[in-house]
Amino acid sequence: EAKRRGGHCAVPYYHQLDLAARERRQLITDLRQAINDKGMELYFQPIVMTGSHQPTHFEALLRWNNPTRGFIGPDVFIPLAEETGLIHALGNWVIDQACAVLSRLPAEYGVAVNLSPHQLKTDDVLHTVETALATHGLAPSRLTLEVTESALMHNADKATRLLGHFHQRGIRLAMDDFGTGYSSLAYLDQFPFDILKVDRSFIKRLGGGDNVKDSTPIVETIMVLARQLGLDVIAEGVETRQQAETLHAMDCTFLQGYYLGRPTPLSTLMENCARVT
Ligand code: C2E
Ligand code: MG
Ligand code: MG
Ligand code: MG
Repeated sequence: EAKRRGGHCAVPYYHQLDLAARERRQLITDLRQAINDKGMELYFQPIVMTGSHQPTHFEALLRWNNPTRGFIGPDVFIPLAEETGLIHALGNWVIDQACAVLSRLPAEYGVAVNLSPHQLKTDDVLHTVETALATHGLAPSRLTLEVTESALMHNADKATRLLGHFHQRGIRLAMDDFGTGYSSLAYLDQFPFDILKVDRSFIKRLGGGDNVKDSTPIVETIMVLARQLGLDVIAEGVETRQQAETLHAMDCTFLQGYYLGRPTPLSTLMENCARVT
C-alpha cells in the first residue's frame, strides 16, 4: 500500500479517508452477500399488555451476525442499505420472513415490521406485503407496519397512498419513535395511524433524576393526545418495574422493553409462545 502511495512513510490524511472508504466498500460487499445468502436474521421482542404483561405481538428486529466482524446492529447497516438501495431487497426479505414466522404462531399473536422511508417511495412494498399475506395465509390485522416521521416527511403523496392502502386492508400502522421528529402532530392528523410508539428517550426520563428533566408531564400529555385520537400507545424502552408501574397508572396500552423481554432469536420466540398459550 505504501508503495502504491509512492513510498512515503507518514500516513497522510487522505490515506485514512481512503481506508475508511475501502472499509465501507467491503462492508457493503459483505452486506450484499449476506442479504443474498440468507445471512441476516430476525430477532423478536415482545410487546405486552400493560396490566397483565401478556404478549400480544412481537417486533421483528434485524440482526447481522457477520462471520468475520461479529455482530453488527441495524443502526450501522440499515443506513448503508439505504444509501446503496439494498434496503429494498432487505426490506422485502424482512416482510416475507416476519410473515412466515407469524404463520407459525397461534392466531392471537401479531407481528410488527419496521419500514424504511425508502420503502415508502415505491409500490414495491405494497406488492411484497400482499404477496406475503397471501402466501402465508394471514389475516392483515395480525401485521403492524412501523414507520417513523422521517418516512412521511419526504414523498408525502406516495406515503399517503401507500399507508391509506395498508389501512384499508386492515393492516395496523404504528408511528415509531414518536416525539423525536419535527412535526409529529401534523402526521398523526394526516395519516391513518392505529398505534403511537413513545420514543424510549421519554420513558428513560420518567421520574427525572440528577440533572435529568422529568418527562412525566410530556408522557402524560402524549397519553391524553393518543386517547383523544383513538390510538393505542406502546411505551418503548421500558427497563424497570418503576417505569412499568408509572405507565400502568397512566393507562398506557402496551409496554415494550428489556424489563418485559429482550429481542430473542426465533427458537426462543417459539418456546415462549408455546409456554404462554
Ligand atoms: P426501533 O424500531 O425503535 O426498535 C427498538 C429498538 O430499541 C431496538 O433496537 C430494540 O432492541 C431496542 N430496545 C428495545 N427495548 C429496549 C430497552 O429496554 N432499552 C434499550 N436501551 N433499548 C431497547 P435495535 O434492534 O438495535 O434496532 C434499532 C433500530 O433499527 C430500530 O429502532 C429500527 O429503526 C431499525 N431496524 C431494526 N430492524 C429493522 C428492519 O427490519 N427494517 C428497518 N427498516 N429498520 C430496522
Ligand atoms: Mg420499531
Ligand atoms: Mg422505536
Ligand atoms: Mg428507534
